[in-house]
Amino acid sequence: MIRVRGLNKWFGEHHVLHDVDLDVARGEVVVVIGPSGSGKSTLCRCLNRLEAADSGEILVDGVPVPAEGRALARLRADVGMVFQNFNLFQHKTVLENVMLAPMKVRGVSRAEAERTAHELLARVGIAEQAGKQPARLSGGQQQRAAIARALAMRPKAMLFDEPTSALDPEMVGEVLDVMTGLAADGMTMVVVTHEMGFARRAADRVVFMDGGRIVETGEPNAFFDSPRTDRARDFLAKVL
Ligand code: ADP
Ligand code: MG
Repeated sequence: MIRVRGLNKWFGEHHVLHDVDLDVARGEVVVVIGPSGSGKSTLCRCLNRLEAADSGEILVDGVPVPAEGRALARLRADVGMVFQNFNLFQHKTVLENVMLAPMKVRGVSRAEAERTAHELLARVGIAEQAGKQPARLSGGQQQRAAIARALAMRPKAMLFDEPTSALDPEMVGEVLDVMTGLAADGMTMVVVTHEMGFARRAADRVVFMDGGRIVETGEPNAFFDSPRTDRARDFLAKVL
């Protein structure tokens, strides 16, 4: 579903992604871990072209990531993204947040968008919050609304960039549960997270980044129990 080859990214003089290669199969859940500043967010942002790569190739479902225009809008619809800080429209209700993009980008009718939005809000467990503005919801509920909004576009894949990092600890579980459910339903997912329990449970593969490079990748139990590289071992010793 996602194929990355030789991806390089600079911010000015700062080389933040070095020859990154990554494949994510249809239905696969890849968890990306690594220290702060290692390039995890930049990699995610290149995948739906919130950042432009400087060199290399990124294919989504066989199609090169487009630079602009309608093709880019289609890519963004196909590859949903969930951020640390929810990024909901604050002056709209939760229901409207979920309805908006399918109507604008996919040309879905208002009635159908509303029906789908109610279904998705029920699926993430916040059906009763539909008429409220985001600020009235807890952080965990807001993040679940953000996931419902991304799902409303019927994406082929979902990117999550530290979706639980801004949450109070008691709300982390409810968001991870929704993500675990999506994974079980076969969604293709790239998840940047520090939740190592989730990584071990839900990941098909763990990718460890450091210094803008993919340093190690492996099946989660093997990776956590016996990392092959010193850098991964050092990182795990600090976070586990
Ligand atoms: P991570 O998500 O792993 O913490 P990032 O991808 O956010 O890492 O950042 C990788 C490196 O790129 C860091 O050194 C960061 O300071 C730098 N960086 C990220 N975004 C920008 C930007 N918009 N402009 C300049 N430097 C950036
Ligand atoms: Mg980041």
